[in-house]
Amino acid sequence: MSEFSLELSEDQLQLQKWVHDFAEGVIRPAGHEWDVKEETPWPILEEAASIGLYGWEFMAEMMMNDPTGISMSVALEELFWGDAGIGMAMMGSGLAAAGIVAAGTNEQVMEWVPQCYGDATDVKLGAFCASEPDAGSDVAAYRTRAVYDEAKDEWVLNGTKTWITNGGIAEIHVVIAVVDPELGSKGQASFIIPPNTPGFSMGQKFAKHGLRASHTSEVVLDDVRVPGSCLLGSKERLDERLAGVREGKSNDRQAAMQTFEATRPAVAAQAVGIARAALEYATDYAKEREAFGRPIVYNQSIAFMLADMATEIDAARMLTHRAAWLGKQRKFKNAEGSMAKLKAGRVAVWATERAMQILGGYGYVNEYPVERWHRDAKIYDIFEGTEQIQQLVISRALTGLRIE
Ligand SMILES: Cc1cc2nc3c(=O)[nH]c(=O)nc-3n(C[C@H](O)[C@H](O)[C@H](O)COP(=O)(O)OP(=O)(O)OC[C@H]3O[C@@H](n4cnc5c(N)ncnc54)[C@H](O)[C@@H]3O)c2cc1C
Repeated sequence: MSEFSLELSEDQLQLQKWVHDFAEGVIRPAGHEWDVKEETPWPILEEAASIGLYGWEFMAEMMMNDPTGISMSVALEELFWGDAGIGMAMMGSGLAAAGIVAAGTNEQVMEWVPQCYGDATDVKLGAFCASEPDAGSDVAAYRTRAVYDEAKDEWVLNGTKTWITNGGIAEIHVVIAVVDPELGSKGQASFIIPPNTPGFSMGQKFAKHGLRASHTSEVVLDDVRVPGSCLLGSKERLDERLAGVREGKSNDRQAAMQTFEATRPAVAAQAVGIARAALEYATDYAKEREAFGRPIVYNQSIAFMLADMATEIDAARMLTHRAAWLGKQRKFKNAEGSMAKLKAGRVAVWATERAMQILGGYGYVNEYPVERWHRDAKIYDIFEGTEQIQQLVISRALTGLRIE
């Protein structure tokens, strides 16, 4: 039994400082510019790649060489403290990489994950394409279809995916498609769409409330043909799994729950980073800004807001680190990953709004970063499982009942 400690290790403290320095020196000063441009900040990705902060090796290091599971959360909090739009531009590829790792064979992971990142001289992106215009939370309702052409050993995909981070500008797209419509979410599989595949195109690019430095768009699959080897996993394993489901033998619900829950602390940590940025900014501001002859922080109503923000942010971080640790040990019991994501999203929205209140008029104009952070924060109640979907998962785990 290892000794209990809530302290970060020396390695984690170093990682935290390294990412913080990049966030403070490079990301934070560029946040406004890329929010206004509403474009992927390629020069920042290149700079991050040149120091090893953007790249598959960094992700692998975070995943494999951290027995606590907490390092990724520590790094992401700092990155998103810098700026969430730029942070998401850097992390979108991680969604694709996670999709490949979750479903692919070792050979497929080695082949495709590095291509989601490129290298410092030629930076690339990955995209994970699940959501559809008529199916976001309801994953069993996806319609994008993949049909196997046995004669050519090819899969033919048709459908539309929407709100895809890096959609259409990524090198590698991972697409979830239905292979057996009778089986709902259990009849789906993941496919790699290699670069320049005919029939695959970008649809509408969305103008967004926040996270504007991160590209979001539709992607359209129109008779897209990919080799059989682009099915993640293998045809044999897929056939076996589908046969098991048809015979009612499928027992992968617990495994799927552990996988989903394990990705949530990373998202929660991003929200914690935004909230902390707002707290620090509002604290400094309240100590500087004078009204009625003294700094506004001397009003309890302001100081208590800061006290509540600090307490809530720490609570969100504690849930996040607990979930990250449980995820690594594969010990989730009561949807603790969902709890962390639910809490951190709410705290980010609330704390950035409180920070705007503390800044008064300056909180509402884009000359100051707080209004941007508030816009950025809202997505954490929506993507990677909405607030209500997290509540659904938690309440089902808690009660053991099929709460609708
Ligand atoms: C900026 C951005 C980036 C994104 N990036 C990606 C990406 O890279 N890849 C990807 O695949 N997707 C991505 N998404 C999609 C995102 O994951 C979905 O928007 C999200 O899952 C919600 O789905 P929806 O929008 O269809 O909402 P819906 O599922 O239609 O939900 C609408 C409302 O109904 C509620 N609701 C739905 N079902 C229930 C229920 N059973 N009980 C109670 N309430 C319910 C929801 O909580 C929500 O409030 C992104 C979205 C955005 C905005």
